[in-house]
Amino acid sequence: MLNLAEKVIELINHQTENADTITQYRKPLVGFASAHDPLFNQMKEIIGPHHLHPTELLPDAQTVISFFLPFAKTIIIANRKNPQIAREWAVAYIETNTLIATISAELKRELTALGINVVTQPATHNFNEQDLSARWSNKSVGFVAGLGTFGINHMLITSSGCGGRFGSTVISAEIPPTPRPTQENCLYLRDSKCQFCVNNCPTGALTVQGLDKHKCYAHLLEVDKQFPDLGLCDICGKCAVGPCASLS
Ligand code: SF4
Ligand code: SF4
Repeated sequence: MLNLAEKVIELINHQTENADTITQYRKPLVGFASAHDPLFNQMKEIIGPHHLHPTELLPDAQTVISFFLPFAKTIIIANRKNPQIAREWAVAYIETNTLIATISAELKRELTALGINVVTQPATHNFNEQDLSARWSNKSVGFVAGLGTFGINHMLITSSGCGGRFGSTVISAEIPPTPRPTQENCLYLRDSKCQFCVNNCPTGALTVQGLDKHKCYAHLLEVDKQFPDLGLCDICGKCAVGPCASLS
């Protein structure tokens, strides 16, 4: 009989393998964090006091489930090669946000049936419009849940790279936390041998020193006009198609 962690992983794998999407995926990654991990308190200092603690979403929170859906390498290569934003990348963004919502809803349905309280979060657009800071950062949650390390591209680089999207769900049951990686996945932070993301940023928003979020987001809104048929498509990802995009 599967334990709770195994059930969660199986559900996420099943939903991804059977997704009704044009987008193809590599195998999902799933990590677990204790809702009482001190890093969740530190996020209020690092990201801002508005960043929610898991217990503000669910008073009896015990575990935060984080999952990463890595895009097929063909999608990453398409966006690397295209001088504009590849349509495949745009479609992957839209479809994966929907898939994350579907997975989150299924997790809620299955776990609630086991008597577990569950709160889901959207994949994106969960941020303050003024200062563009997240109320719930799926990437930061993925870090706490052991899924990867941050690169200078401000992406969470997992063992399968950073070309994909994160979802997360807070639950009232305990699952043992996933150990965090001990090695940097960003090649610049490891040995200063890469600056692909900085050099590939079309706006200069990204430098080794940091990210100008407003300059970046202004570009994402311009890109949105390129795909009027896809819904809100504020994307770019030129900093997420380098050597750390698909590590496996
Ligand atoms: S492209 Fe290179 S420098 Fe930029 S985050 Fe990835 S590994 Fe680090
Ligand atoms: S998303 Fe695009 S504009 Fe924003 S930092 Fe990355 S490469 Fe630069």
